[in-house]
Amino acid sequence: MSTRALLELQNLSTHYVSAKGRRVVRAVEDVSLRVAAGETLGIVGESGSGKSTLALSILRLLPPAARIPSGRMLFEGEDLLQKSDAEMRRVRGKRIAMILQDPMASLNPLFTIGDQVAEPIRVHEGATRASAWARARDLLKAVRIPSPQARLSQHPHEMSGGMRQRIVGAIGISCEPRLLIADEPTTSLDLTIQAQYLNLLRELQRAHGLALIFITHNLGIVAKMCDQLAVMYAGRVVEQGPVRQIFKAPAHPYTRALLSSIPRMSDGRQRLTAIDGQPPDLSALPPGCAFAPRCPSAFDACRAAEPPEIAGVANSRVRCWLAAPDAGRGKAGNGAL
Ligand code: ATP
Ligand code: MG
Repeated sequence: MSTRALLELQNLSTHYVSAKGRRVVRAVEDVSLRVAAGETLGIVGESGSGKSTLALSILRLLPPAARIPSGRMLFEGEDLLQKSDAEMRRVRGKRIAMILQDPMASLNPLFTIGDQVAEPIRVHEGATRASAWARARDLLKAVRIPSPQARLSQHPHEMSGGMRQRIVGAIGISCEPRLLIADEPTTSLDLTIQAQYLNLLRELQRAHGLALIFITHNLGIVAKMCDQLAVMYAGRVVEQGPVRQIFKAPAHPYTRALLSSIPRMSDGRQRLTAIDGQPPDLSALPPGCAFAPRCPSAFDACRAAEPPEIAGVANSRVRCWLAAPDAGRGKAGNGAL
């Protein structure tokens, strides 16, 4: 890829360290990813695989126990890890915005919708209250809130769940960020509202040319929304590449297991179902590949050393010994799935 990425993570690791430093949870380990302007990257993986930690790392909104021992996070060519807290405050909400799973956690029950949608515009752009409120009204209109003028002076509890989620979306795009990170933004919505919300996000993306990082358990949403996909397992990105390529020919046994576990349900609800076995304890990872204990294709090399990231077709990359050129050698039995 020759074009400069909007966001490029290079070998990023994020660990949670216990108070006495005895336990280190390797929530994100050696992750390299890139997102181009206007593109949508989906991140999938089982619960606890490090998706939210990765998102919070990008915004540097990690809890105090978290450390970033290594890596670079280049956003428009600047390393976010080198920025001061004051500089990061100017990035957050303005150049990179985030939408969380639970809209109530992002909205303050004590303030009006107008104040909350207008706040980033006032903070980042120094707009007057009147002009920020006028912009807030237009944003509510853009996210299809009926009677936007009247809604401005209401409080979050006076909205439906779907409206609250759209308001959080309006706050997310209020300063026209270049990148919007959405961490499971639709799990609390019913299916019809969910579909409407996803369409709305896509419209906003097209209108504003923003890039989207979309964290989800739902591969149906990935198929619908995303250009690129990163599959996380135990803190690592085990496979990444164009969605179409990965859906057509998944290279990692974990990705294959995820794709084959999609229940074919008529209501379109496609959540990941369980794969046999448990994900490992991130503070006591086994040697070798973290997926080996659950992998139907594991052979000796997999338990001995961690697989490197191996380039595949169409700019895809996979961390799996099966993809190594000499994968056949020393393998116990037939490793093919
Ligand atoms: P989910 O799909 O359930 O949202 P996730 O992929 O977003 O999961 P994270 O929330 O990033 O996963 O958690 C990754 C790992 O880090 C988990 O093992 C989790 O227990 C651990 N973890 C998360 N937050 C903290 C914290 N504040 N202190 C210690 N460990 C944490
Ligand atoms: Mg999460």
